[in-house]
Amino acid sequence: MGRRRPMTGNPFFETRTTPFGLPPFDRIRPEHFPPAFDRGMEEELALVQAIADSAEPPTFANTVEAAERCGRRLATATGVFYNLYSSCTNDALDAIARDYAPRFAQHYTSIVHNPAFFARVDALFRQRHELGLDTAQMRLLERNHLEFVRAGAALASEAKARMAAIAERLATLHTEFGQNVLHDEKAWQLVLEEGDLDGLPGFARDAAAEAARERGLDGKYVITLARSSVEPFLTFSARRDLRRKAYEAWTERGGLPGDHDNTPLIKEIVALRAEQARLLGFPSYAAFKLADSMAKDVDSVERLLLQVWEPAKRKAATEKAVLEEQARAGGLNEPLARWDWRFYAEKVRQARYDLDEAEVKPYFVLDRMVQAAFDTATKLFGITFHAIPDAPVYHPDVKVYEVRDTGGAHVGLFLHDNLARSGKRSGAWMSSYRDQEALDGPVSPIIVNNNNFAKGQPTLLSFDDAETLFHEFGHGLHGLLSRVRYRSQSGTSVRRDFVEFPSQVYEHWMSAPETLRKYAVHHETGEPIPESLLNRLLAARNFNQGFATVEYTAAALLDMAFHTEPEPDAIDVPAFERAVLDRIGLPAEIGVRHRPPHFQHLFAGSGYAAGYYAYLWAEVLDADGFEAFSESGDLFDPKLSAGLKAIYSAGDTRDPMELYVAFRGREPRIEPLLKHRGLVEETPKAA
Ligand SMILES: [Zn+2]
Repeated sequence: MGRRRPMTGNPFFETRTTPFGLPPFDRIRPEHFPPAFDRGMEEELALVQAIADSAEPPTFANTVEAAERCGRRLATATGVFYNLYSSCTNDALDAIARDYAPRFAQHYTSIVHNPAFFARVDALFRQRHELGLDTAQMRLLERNHLEFVRAGAALASEAKARMAAIAERLATLHTEFGQNVLHDEKAWQLVLEEGDLDGLPGFARDAAAEAARERGLDGKYVITLARSSVEPFLTFSARRDLRRKAYEAWTERGGLPGDHDNTPLIKEIVALRAEQARLLGFPSYAAFKLADSMAKDVDSVERLLLQVWEPAKRKAATEKAVLEEQARAGGLNEPLARWDWRFYAEKVRQARYDLDEAEVKPYFVLDRMVQAAFDTATKLFGITFHAIPDAPVYHPDVKVYEVRDTGGAHVGLFLHDNLARSGKRSGAWMSSYRDQEALDGPVSPIIVNNNNFAKGQPTLLSFDDAETLFHEFGHGLHGLLSRVRYRSQSGTSVRRDFVEFPSQVYEHWMSAPETLRKYAVHHETGEPIPESLLNRLLAARNFNQGFATVEYTAAALLDMAFHTEPEPDAIDVPAFERAVLDRIGLPAEIGVRHRPPHFQHLFAGSGYAAGYYAYLWAEVLDADGFEAFSESGDLFDPKLSAGLKAIYSAGDTRDPMELYVAFRGREPRIEPLLKHRGLVEETPKAA
């Protein structure tokens, strides 16, 4: 088949007539992507070559700014593609992803390894202090230069060729890794009869019935491997045999023997990354990765992780003792297993705080909590959300909103894709279809949030789900409020360990009593959450935080172990995992939050590789940052809100610590995080 395909009727070759440039989802077909990708790459290469070949001496405008204009068509096509591929994939999109992953890697490398292009950027970098650049321009040039260097542009030709080959191979492995996880998630379901539902509250039964209906199993009940399906099952099902079955399937996905086993992929990925780092002169991939982060080095990451690890283990041990008591009272004569923890924790929570998840959940209606997230943004940042009901979408569950500022001016588009479905990657994430920029006139952002809430009538959230909703929306605001000139600096394109600050700090507004009193309204009675229930809910917030901190921190330590391993070629993945978890002393009753074969943060891409710690790193900032609002006594304090908005708007135009200090007036302290997670040891009072 020829590479040239007919262009007629391909929406990527037409000017968009949809509202505000929303992709015409109703007209986009899988076959439209390859020609758009091919043309996009060709165009970008031609533009880059023109910069490289220019007879003019390099200037910021004819080199760095010109490069900002190079990949727009390709970005448009890949933006649509990777969003659909994550949210609503099918065999055709899967095949295109596999086909293009190594080609995009090759394309990217051919740009950053273009010697004449790099020579111009390098020359500008050397004279950067004489160029009269403003702060954002200086940072753009410095970061561009660093990106070239980190991709191997300054290496000898043999090493450069090896870097290119590694990048290409990694792109293929990352894609396969993600597809294998999705395969196992799609392939597995636990089909239950009415008689198997012991212990499941109404909302969990409804969601299981809905999942069964979607799979053509009317009248039955289905548990899937989506966190929003399997976690409630593990929390409530009184059937220990079924809990075990669900837990094992959930934690073994991605690592089952056969064609979709990720274990050999992990070994190869880790070895290739270590080689990449060695070629660039770093002792490990983690050292390479962290050199370009807020944390800066392996030591500071490990120091942070260990600062919470021991207190978290001690807290988990206390929690375990109470759970065991509960289990014995409930007639369990065996030791507590991993599929028991959530179940007995819920029993203890009910007893100790008189709090029942099933009592709470009817107050957390998805639509109301979305409204809460929107209204919070209106009060903090002065933007409003307006549904566009007839906008074309790729799935009927997706909602589109126009975002406006207080003066009514257009800010951007926001797509909300909240429900779990087959063909959607697990987890929750923010992404963009178009990034804000202003280089050649204003370009408004098109931002999307994906969640995986179990659909219901209506859809009800857990407290954690509601936090996730606010979390992703915080990332969404980072994209929407972006006010930068250059696309490379737009919105969330900041260092990975800073990007979780805008999202995590936003979660605090969800759990604020002011928010809950107004938006946590019973879906049947319309009554706001009773004050006593609210108090019990907030009092229980630190409950089980030992468990949560242990399962997360163990995953972060495992990430660091893989990416600091001096002899990655010799890794036997399951043995390595066991050895690391033994060494750090992971309690037997608690599983690591993501086991290697489905740890997509690490292996379905390199974004969070040696970077899973970023959530905790950013939590130091968000706990400390939100304390400023609590201290002020006004959660919408105008001065603090303006300071926070400046962070959301700045993108990557400034150093993150400078941005934080400008908002907070000082560097962050770790104490609010420890307090927030209930990890501060009580200081005995003097008698
Ligand atoms: Zn996040």
